[in-house]
Amino acid sequence: METENVIGVDFGRREIAKTSHKQGWDGYNLQQKRDKYSRRRPSLPKKASQGTRSTRRRCRQILKRLSGREKRFQNWVNHNISSVIIEQAKQTRSLIAMENLTGIRESTNQQPRNKQEKRRSNNWAFHQLRLFVEYKAIKEGVEVVAIPAAYTSKTCHKCKHLGVRSNKNFKCSNPECGWKGDADFNGAQVIKLWGCTVNQPRGSW
Ligand SMILES: [Zn+2]
Repeated sequence: METENVIGVDFGRREIAKTSHKQGWDGYNLQQKRDKYSRRRPSLPKKASQGTRSTRRRCRQILKRLSGREKRFQNWVNHNISSVIIEQAKQTRSLIAMENLTGIRESTNQQPRNKQEKRRSNNWAFHQLRLFVEYKAIKEGVEVVAIPAAYTSKTCHKCKHLGVRSNKNFKCSNPECGWKGDADFNGAQVIKLWGCTVNQPRGSW
């Protein structure tokens, strides 16, 4: 496929995924569902070790079933997200630019955060989501490039200077630019810029 455009995809910060086309998958509703699964867990292992023999067996069965449901739910969400991204790439004849996998963990763990948020960012199956995108891309003839993750969340997509990121917001530190806006959107744009450079090894300078 002849590609002229690039879709940048930013994984795993405030949103599960955000594209440079301003499409995002908010983790909030999904997270509530996942929290529900994990909240029900702590009391069960206790019962599973203290109850009568049949209680113990039942608790083990419930625990097993919960983790199965949670996994299926995650599979389903990741399949949906990756399908939409691939479909968009096909329709716009774009290649997809994504961050290196190692970068996801580093960047989501960068700042000290509360336990719940840490569990969330580490738990979501970004690895799986990335694999789904790559797998479907091969199947559909869409090109994927990996982008070094080091500065994507700290770089301003307008002027390429460093900026400050706090949660959902990004602010460029360059006084002549001063771009402010959605941090995930900025991240996806920076990934897209990198993708464009990779995509045009001859033309750009
Ligand atoms: Zn700027």
